Amino acid sequence: MNTPTPNLASSVTGHPTPPLASPLRAAITALTRRPEPDLLPGLVEQARLDPDADETAQRLALRIARGVRERARESGRAGLVQGLLQEFALSSSEGVALMCLAEALLRIPDAATRDALIRDKISTGNWQSHLGQSPSLFVNAATWGLLLTGRLVATHSDVGLGSALRRIVGRGGEPLIRKGVDMAMRLMGEQFVTGETIAQALSNARKREAEGFRYSYDMLGEAAMTARDAESYLAAYEAAIHAIGKASAGRGIFDGPGISIKLSALHPRFSRAQVERVMSELYPCLLQLAELARRYDIGLNVDAEEADRLELSLDLLERLCFEPTLAGWNGIGFVIQAYQKRGPAVIDWLVDLGRRSERRLMIRLVKGAYWDGEIKRAQIDGQEGYPVYTRKAYTDVAYVACAKKLLAAPEQIYPQFATHNAHTLAVVYTLAGPDYRDGQYEFQCLHGMGEPLYEQVVGPASEGKLGRPCRIYAPVGTHDTLLAYLVRRLLENGANTSFVNRIASDAVPLEALVQNPVHTVEVLAAQEGRLGLPHPAIVLPRDLYGAGRVNSAGLDLANETQLAAIEAAFAAHPATPWAAKPLLGVDARAAPLQTVLNPADHRDVVGTCREATPDDVQAALACASEA
Ligand code: FAD
Repeated sequence: MNTPTPNLASSVTGHPTPPLASPLRAAITALTRRPEPDLLPGLVEQARLDPDADETAQRLALRIARGVRERARESGRAGLVQGLLQEFALSSSEGVALMCLAEALLRIPDAATRDALIRDKISTGNWQSHLGQSPSLFVNAATWGLLLTGRLVATHSDVGLGSALRRIVGRGGEPLIRKGVDMAMRLMGEQFVTGETIAQALSNARKREAEGFRYSYDMLGEAAMTARDAESYLAAYEAAIHAIGKASAGRGIFDGPGISIKLSALHPRFSRAQVERVMSELYPCLLQLAELARRYDIGLNVDAEEADRLELSLDLLERLCFEPTLAGWNGIGFVIQAYQKRGPAVIDWLVDLGRRSERRLMIRLVKGAYWDGEIKRAQIDGQEGYPVYTRKAYTDVAYVACAKKLLAAPEQIYPQFATHNAHTLAVVYTLAGPDYRDGQYEFQCLHGMGEPLYEQVVGPASEGKLGRPCRIYAPVGTHDTLLAYLVRRLLENGANTSFVNRIASDAVPLEALVQNPVHTVEVLAAQEGRLGLPHPAIVLPRDLYGAGRVNSAGLDLANETQLAAIEAAFAAHPATPWAAKPLLGVDARAAPLQTVLNPADHRDVVGTCREATPDDVQAALACASEA
């Protein structure tokens, strides 16, 4: 096996030169922000089912969706998320206030003190006298406001939120607020988290394991902000692998439990600009975890995060796959986000990587959890386009196209289909065919969200089930690590286009829920006269301000092609002595010339600058008034 070592020689810009891209890697980069009309015609063809398969998938999807709706009605807890979102107008100050209260209550360990807090701060109205004392009940109001209303609401003041809580009490009295708080708390505490410690989570998982489910544990927490954060995440991952490995007791990567990790948790500077540190500091941690996972033979999955981290993750993955200490082991896992335009090209590259490194990779296919953030970031940065599709149906179509590609490479890929959408599930099931073989593929769902769906999938046909395995993604952690994960889950639940949101509403007929997205996209194309047009309400970043003015353009500093272009532009002018000075200067000797250095590398002299003097300014003003 040949081991590629990244070529990180220093360059003119002071950034390491990117490794020479292989054609498959270059294809990934080229797709990063391609316009949707270029991509959709190909995707639609790849995702098209023959009429029989379409019909079979539709029927199955309908049956499963009906089952989910019935279960949601019967089961109290499964319906909690939706109940909370629907019963309380969470898009209001009341909702924000309620979530703040619930969050505060979560931090109180015993019931008596919790009750005392509600009585003291709500029922009696006395709580207002505590305002101004730190920490405020509403300290996370901005986060909840952003989550629930989609806006950063500056007007969420303590006083305003306090009266919102009083309004709820006034409207429904204490029982209502208790119910709301209780629902919010249970939602936060139980709905999405398998256990506060890995030991507790492993124990809580036993019941579902006995039913045939598998698990992948996720130690809650988000990106490390400091080296100390990263150290503690690494220690938590290590401890978790030991615990999961022992509990696995040799069941192996398919039947046994595994772990999911976030690269951003392992280093505070997980970004392209810090590629040297990522390779020299983050990579050894990743390798250490993978070697430990291999020792226990449990799957180690690298979760997908923001789009600008994808290529860097691929660099790390490639290096990992060629490690001699991991040779022949099939437990390395990676995630593809179907909403990213690069998805299909990443799969081509992964299949090739599996072939080159003589291993089978575990590949989870998701639609992607950071959609709102990706759109916003591209707008803020003034990018030329979006890295994700702008219409949900396009993502659904891309998911099916990617699923087909994954299933077509069984030697190199163990596909793991993570979805809560009954139609997506039914299409995958149909595409994979009726003759399931052990280790062929699996489904995946999130703890607290996918059970009503997958209870119908896991188990023998004799019990009316589909006889396919499902792995539950199981977050582990305490309330103080929960918030960021919860924000993503509630965004998903709250989005009115999401399957889990729509299935909870009886107003949406089941038939509408299980539409083949290829048909949806074609209907749109017929109405609009072209296949693959972007969402009409999501204009390109440059058009953000309408006809008034063009948005300022930014650079994609995670894109190798753009970095190479910047590099080339610098290289073309190595000796240009840049000089900046007032254009209407009165006296060229009045102010001294200053040397300007590259802030990233003080050995690099960019040029010279002469600041404007008051006389220069006067001259410019005089010139302007004459004009
Ligand atoms: P659906 O309701 O069918 O789809 C919702 C999805 O459609 C949204 O999440 C978004 O991706 C997409 N979407 C919505 N609106 C638009 C639009 N206007 N334009 C384009 N696309 C749109 N996510 C990660 O990012 N990284 C991970 O590592 C990860 N791991 C996961 C592991 C498991 C086991 C599971 C179940 C999920 C994981 N997720 C991860 C979350 C996952 O991305 C979401 O749960 C998933 O997108 C929801 O898709 P669905 O098929 O269940 O629902």
